[in-house]
Amino acid sequence: MEISSLAREFGLAPGQVIGVLNELGIEHDSEKIEADADTVELLQMELKGLKGSKVISIAPGVTPRDVAKLLGVAPQEVQKMLMLKMKVMATLTTSLKDDVAELLVSSLGYTLNWATPKPKVVAKPKVEPKAQGGAQLRPPVVTILGHVDHGKTSLLDYIRKANVAGKEHGGITQHIGAYQVETGDKKIITFLDTPGHAAFTAMRARGAQVTDIAILVVAADDGIMPQTIEAISHVKNAGVPMIVAVNKIDKNNANPDQVLSQLTQHEVVPESFGGQTITCPVSALTGEGIPHLLEMIALQAEIMELKADPKADFKGVVIEAKLDRGRGPVATILVQDGTLRIGDSVIIGSTSGKIKAMTDYRGERLKEAGPSVPVEILGLDEVPGAGESVENIGDERTSRLEAEQRQIAKRAKEYSVKVKRASLRDLRAQMTAGEVKDLNLIVKADVQGSVEAVRGMIEKIENEEVSVKIIHFGVGTVTESDVLLASASNGIVIGFNVKPEPGAKKEAEKEKVEIRTYTIIYELIEDIEAAVKGMLAAKFEEEHLGTVECRVAFNLSRHGKVAGCHVTEGKIQRNCSVRVRRGKDLVFEGKVATLKNVKQDVREMFAGQDCGVTFDGWEDFKKDDIIEAYELVQVN
Ligand code: GDP
Repeated sequence: MEISSLAREFGLAPGQVIGVLNELGIEHDSEKIEADADTVELLQMELKGLKGSKVISIAPGVTPRDVAKLLGVAPQEVQKMLMLKMKVMATLTTSLKDDVAELLVSSLGYTLNWATPKPKVVAKPKVEPKAQGGAQLRPPVVTILGHVDHGKTSLLDYIRKANVAGKEHGGITQHIGAYQVETGDKKIITFLDTPGHAAFTAMRARGAQVTDIAILVVAADDGIMPQTIEAISHVKNAGVPMIVAVNKIDKNNANPDQVLSQLTQHEVVPESFGGQTITCPVSALTGEGIPHLLEMIALQAEIMELKADPKADFKGVVIEAKLDRGRGPVATILVQDGTLRIGDSVIIGSTSGKIKAMTDYRGERLKEAGPSVPVEILGLDEVPGAGESVENIGDERTSRLEAEQRQIAKRAKEYSVKVKRASLRDLRAQMTAGEVKDLNLIVKADVQGSVEAVRGMIEKIENEEVSVKIIHFGVGTVTESDVLLASASNGIVIGFNVKPEPGAKKEAEKEKVEIRTYTIIYELIEDIEAAVKGMLAAKFEEEHLGTVECRVAFNLSRHGKVAGCHVTEGKIQRNCSVRVRRGKDLVFEGKVATLKNVKQDVREMFAGQDCGVTFDGWEDFKKDDIIEAYELVQVN
C-alpha cells in the first residue's frame, strides 16, 4: 500500500502517515507499507482520527528534501521558500537547524512537533520475586471510598501526580479508569480511578470482585458521615480489608482523634485502639502522610500474598468502556491473571474482538500486559459493560461464534428465565434449593430511633438454619446504592416509614431486587418471621418426569460433551433434576444443563423423541446409561 495514496485519502501529509506508522510500530519504508488486513484497519482508524490535523512529527536534522517528501510538496517549492522568503541558503541535502526547520514547516502550513525516538515500552508484568509454582506476587488493586467532599478525588489526583510509576516517561497520565504508582521502596500499587461505593458495589453486583484493598477516606474536620457508614457496610460485606485515610489533617479544625473514636462505634477498630484497622492521617492538599499510606497499602498487600501467574490463561475484567468517535469501542481492562497481548482474541460477555492496540495510563503503547496492569484496548466489536469479565478462549472466529451464542442465550434469558434473587415470598423454595442460606437485609428508616427499634427486633428473630443478617442500616430513603448492595449480596431492602427513590426503584426492577416498605413495625417483623419459619416448614416431594436412555456420547469441541439420548417414557425438561444409573450404580445426581432437539434449544422432550443433553458439571456419561428425570414439588 502506497503511503502517498493513504495520505491523499485522509487529507494528510505523507509525513503524518509515517508518524502514525512509527507510533504503531508498523514496518514500512519511505514509500510503502506491507501489512495484513487487521493492521491496515487499525491504521485507517488512527488516520481517520487525525483528519484535518496539521501537526507533523519530524526528527531533528532533517534536510529540505526530507521536508518536501514528508509534507508531500515539490522539493523546488521548499527551496524557493527557504531562499526567497526565509533568506536561507541550503542545498536539498543540507541538514537544517531546528529553528529553521520549524519556520519552514510552519510557512508550509504545518506545526512541527519534534519526534524523539521513543523507547519501546513493553509492560512487564509488575510482579515481585517468583513464588512457588507459576504464581507470583502481583500488585494490589485499590479502590477509594468515603463521604462526598471528604477528598477521594483529591487523594487520587495527588497520588497520581506524585507517584505515577515510570514518571521519567513524561509524567502526564491519561484517564483510563485506573493507574499504577510506585511506593518509596519500589512496590507497585494499582488504583481504580472511580471512587465511591456505588461503583465498587456495581462491579460486585455484576459478579466482579476487582478490589483487593479499600481505602476509606474520612475528613478530619467533618468526621463520620452517612456515606462513610454506607461505605463501611459495602466494604465489610465484600469482605475486603480496609485502611482508613483520615484526610484534611492540614486544616485548623481537623480532629483526627475524634474520627478514630467515631470509627469504633461502627465496628471499625483502629490499631491505636487495640483493633486491626490501619489508619493513616493524610492531607491530599499538602501530600503529608501519603507516602506512609502507600507503604501501609503495600504492607497490607504483602500480608495478603496476592498472587497471579503471568503464564496462566488470561483473565481480566472491564473497568470502563466507551464508544470513541474516531477509534470505535474503547475499553479499559484490568488484567487479573495471565498476560494480554496485541493480536489476542478476546471475549467479553456477548462481545468479542481482536486486540489491535493497547495503551497504558501513561499513554504508552504496550505489546503485552501482565497481572494487575490496567490497559486501554482497541479492537472490540461493541462496547462492553463495566464489570464484565474478559477471557481469551481461542482464535477470532471461535470468540465471535461464542459471543453470538452468548448473545442468543442472553436474549432468551431476558425473555424467559427471571434472575433469581432472594425474596421473602420465595424464601422457602430458595432455601430448599440451596440458593439462600443467610437472609441479608438492608434496613432504611425515617429516624435513628426507628432504625434502632427495627434492628433490635430483627436481631431477636432466632433460627437455627437461617441466619438473619442486617448487612447495612441507616436513616433516609432507599437509594440506588442500597439496591446495588442488595443485588451484590442477594439481599432484600426493607424500608420503614421511607420510600425508595425513583432511581432506586428502577435499579431494583433491573436487578430484580425486592424492596419492601412498611409503616407498622409489627407487620415488618411478622413478615420476616413468617418467611423464616416458612423456610423450615416447607416440604418438597419428588415427582417423576420420565426415563431417558443415553445412546451415544458426542464430543463437540465447542460445547464439550453431549449425550445423544432417546426418551423412552414420560418426558425430560431443561433444568430438571436427574439421577443417572449405570447398571445398578448411581453415577450422577444433579441437574440437566441444556436440552437440544438437533441444534435447537428446547424446553422439554417427550417419549419417542431423540435429544441432546448436557448436565450441570458432569460429562462422564456413557452409552446405555439410564437417566431418571424428576422435579421437586412443594407440597405445603
Ligand atoms: P470527593 O467528593 O470525596 O472526591 O472530594 P474532593 O476530592 O472533590 O474534595 C472536596 C474538597 O475538599 C475540595 O475542595 C478539595 O480541594 C478539598 N480537599 C480535599 N482534600 C483536602 C485536604 O487534605 N486538605 C484540605 N484543606 N482540603 C482538601
